[in-house]
Amino acid sequence: MRKSRIKRTKTVCTYCGVGCSFEVWTKDRDILRIQPLEEAPVNGISTCVKGKWGWDFVNSEERLTKPLIRKGDEFVEATWDEALDLIAEKLGGIKEKYGPDALGFIASSKCSNEENYVFQKLARGIVGTNNVDNCSRYCQSPATAALLRTVGHGGDAGTIHDIQAAELIIVIGANAAESHPVLATRIKRAHKLHGQKLIVVDLRENELAQRADLIVHPKPSTDLIWINAVTKYILDMGWEDKDFLDERVNNYEEFVKSLEKFTLEYAEEKTGVTKEQMITVATSIHEAKSTCILWAMGITQHSGATDASTAISNLLLITGNYGRTGTGAYPLRGHNNVQGACDFGTMPAWFPGYEPIQSPKVRERYEKAWGTAIPSEPGYDNHQMVEGMHKGEIKAMYLFGEEMALVDANSNYVQAAFEKLEFYVVQDIFFSKTAQFADVVLPAAPSLEKDGTFTNTERRIQRFYKVLEPLGDSKPDWEIIQEVANRLGANWNYKHPSEIMDEAASLAPIFAGVSYDRLEGFQSLVWPVAADGKDTPLLYTDKFAFPDGKARLVAVDWTPPVEVDAEYDLHLNNGRILEHFHEGNMTYRNEGLTHKVPDTWLEVSLELAKERNLQDGTLVGLTSPYGHVEVRVIVTDRVKGNEVYLPMNTRDDSKAVNYLTSSYHDYITHTPAYKEMGVKMEVI
Ligand code: SF4
Repeated sequence: MRKSRIKRTKTVCTYCGVGCSFEVWTKDRDILRIQPLEEAPVNGISTCVKGKWGWDFVNSEERLTKPLIRKGDEFVEATWDEALDLIAEKLGGIKEKYGPDALGFIASSKCSNEENYVFQKLARGIVGTNNVDNCSRYCQSPATAALLRTVGHGGDAGTIHDIQAAELIIVIGANAAESHPVLATRIKRAHKLHGQKLIVVDLRENELAQRADLIVHPKPSTDLIWINAVTKYILDMGWEDKDFLDERVNNYEEFVKSLEKFTLEYAEEKTGVTKEQMITVATSIHEAKSTCILWAMGITQHSGATDASTAISNLLLITGNYGRTGTGAYPLRGHNNVQGACDFGTMPAWFPGYEPIQSPKVRERYEKAWGTAIPSEPGYDNHQMVEGMHKGEIKAMYLFGEEMALVDANSNYVQAAFEKLEFYVVQDIFFSKTAQFADVVLPAAPSLEKDGTFTNTERRIQRFYKVLEPLGDSKPDWEIIQEVANRLGANWNYKHPSEIMDEAASLAPIFAGVSYDRLEGFQSLVWPVAADGKDTPLLYTDKFAFPDGKARLVAVDWTPPVEVDAEYDLHLNNGRILEHFHEGNMTYRNEGLTHKVPDTWLEVSLELAKERNLQDGTLVGLTSPYGHVEVRVIVTDRVKGNEVYLPMNTRDDSKAVNYLTSSYHDYITHTPAYKEMGVKMEVI
């Protein structure tokens, strides 16, 4: 018998938007080692605990290996032909009977750029609907919208190199040490070794906060107010960058007028941030030659999230902090490919590369290339699709690589919507909670079992290579999507994801020079990429991405948070932890990570613990107007007063935080206001 040899294959981490790359050492299906190498553009020789130890899920006995078809309350194994024929018959029939907009498509920020590209092509070009969205709707859509309206590109202004190089870093509502660990390590190093100044604004005293020069703890949902007040104070002091504003920015006069009410006194009263703290923030920006602002869900999961993100971009524009090394806006992307899913068009209003669906010129380009008609109006986003299911407008759904039943807000409401569907296709690597509502479940292959590209939070596109053969009868998502499309009338013949990338590059100008050859090995490209392959690590060095080349200051006002009845007397915060990814479907199938953190918990403050006689391990019930969960307590000084924190990952579905959250959302992007929830607690 021939002995198998150790194989070393380059991959990109599947666990967060930092985009660490490394070699995976395997022998047969055994994963022996994760080996970071210096040529990796982001991480060099380090990874975090998930990147190093989090791969057991690939060989889990719980992997889906055969298509499943619902028969009554049971699922039975089927052949691919049986499953695909049924999908074609049902989706085709529903389209015929109710029209293409009766179908909805939910894409995956865990899957590749190429898979997202073909999925939106299936929705738009084959089915004929723009009802397609991805999980950026749950996180960074408000930041994307804010950047599109102020500076023109919906991505980070620069790279992790710029974040490291900044003289001042301000982190608002982001727990980078746990959600983006290698990036946080870069900040810690720059802070400790190179004198970088660090300001952290958060409800919870996370690990980065504990190292900060200044920690600011505003009242929940009030960030826009103190940010506008800092901006106004800078203008009042004459500290704005006048040359930058004259040459590169529009709408200055109107914007300045919009700030009138945002005095330090007003802001202090509304936010609880002291005048001295706001003056320290303003002075720090004024004194630093370069400032980066990083933010995440603490800003974007609110009723006024796009406006709060816009306020950040305005502050950077006023102080000339765009277009130079060490400056810019950095909304941190959570999933490994949430940036790429958006970039490659799984959004209801945008083609790949952020070109509008409503532009006849752009539509014509895609219609010519695809040989199909494309609807001219934006489709439904995730939130609107859930509402559409309840109203009976959306009759069928096709979802891949997304645990929507638990990660969308107001889980009970979302699951009730799924029950109203006439037909539901779920494609995943595990039989998820979402799959329980499906009519057909298709077995997909994770990143280690296929080729493709991911785009990290810096807009950096990197290749990952097939390490293992797909388990059982599972297949790469792009192959499954192609087979569904062909059964619905397409004639696609992609043999490799590189051909999909070539097509996307020929159609979307920001990817013009992207090709697999230029991404070989540890090479990477940061979009926009010109036809000659020149990429753009730092945006806006000479012009902003608008026709006149100038940025736009956008006046924004505060949207108060959702009101809750007084009986829901605790503010519920939520987020990620270091050891588990998102809802936990992959990391809880990993022995080491699960041994370290076996389940979720509720963080309560020392004050609350004393008042309610809570100790570590006390079992409590949390109730909101939308649901109930039971969970054990950890008493900690990381949270204060009546603010409690429930991580979003859970081994036991019944503890998922989104049984408590509501369907309220950002009024512009419909991103759920996950961070605006009151709960009451009882000891069980
Ligand atoms: Fe993976 Fe993110 Fe950790 Fe890097 S920092 S190893 S990308 S989870």
